[in-house]
Amino acid sequence: MKNILFIAPPAAGKGTQSDLLVQKYGYVHISTGDLLRNIDPQSDLGKEVNELIKMGKLVDDRIVLELLKEKLLSLKSSEHFILDGFPRNLTQAKELEELLSKLNMSLDLVISLNVPYDIALKRALGRLNCPNCKATYNKFFKPSKVKDICDVCGSALVSRTDDNPETFKVRYDAYLESTMPLIDYYKNAGKLVEVDGVNNTFEKIVSVINDD
Ligand code: AMP
Repeated sequence: MKNILFIAPPAAGKGTQSDLLVQKYGYVHISTGDLLRNIDPQSDLGKEVNELIKMGKLVDDRIVLELLKEKLLSLKSSEHFILDGFPRNLTQAKELEELLSKLNMSLDLVISLNVPYDIALKRALGRLNCPNCKATYNKFFKPSKVKDICDVCGSALVSRTDDNPETFKVRYDAYLESTMPLIDYYKNAGKLVEVDGVNNTFEKIVSVINDD
C-alpha cells in the first residue's frame, strides 16, 4: 500500500475522499486541521490556534510539525497514511521529507484534486459536522433528514468557524500563494497525479491508486 498526500483548495473534498479511502483500504487519515482543532480549546495553545483558524491564517509550522510527528510515531509498521492539510508550503514540504526519512517512512503518491473556486466555496458554506459521532453533511449536497440534526446519533450539527465567505477567501488565497507551488514540486519529484475533484472523484482516485 502507498502513503498518500492530498493537495487541494479548501473544502475541495480532501476529508471526504480520505474517509472513503479509510473505509475501503484501512488507511490512517492524518488531517493537520483536525489535529489542531482537537487541541484543548481552554488551553493557551488551543485559544491561540483557534483564533488563527477562525481568521483563515496558517498556524506556526513548528506547532503543526510537532503534532504531525506525534501522529506518525503512533502508526504501527503495518499501517499506511493519507496526509491531508500538510504540507501547506514549501518549507513544510521539506520538513516533511526530513521527518519521513528520519522515521524511515516514504511518501509514495501525491493526488492534486482540481475543484473550481465556486464549487469549493459552496461546499464550504454548506458543510456541517456532527461534534459527537463526526458524521459529515452538506446543506446543499448531502443534507441530514432533519435540519441541523445528525441522522446517526441525533446531536445538533455544527459548522466550522472558518467556513464563511470572508475566511474562505483568505484560505483560498493562502492556497494559491503558498500551497499551489507544491504541485510543481511534487510533479518534479515524479509523485503527482491530478484528479478531477467534481465528478466520480472516488472512482478516479481508486484507479490512480491501483494503476500507479
Ligand atoms: P483544514 O482543516 O485543512 O482546512 O485546516 C484548517 C485550518 O487549520 C487552516 O486554515 C489553518 O489555520 C490550520 N492548518 C491546518 N493545517 C495546517 C498546516 N499544515 N500549517 C499551518 N496551518 C494549518
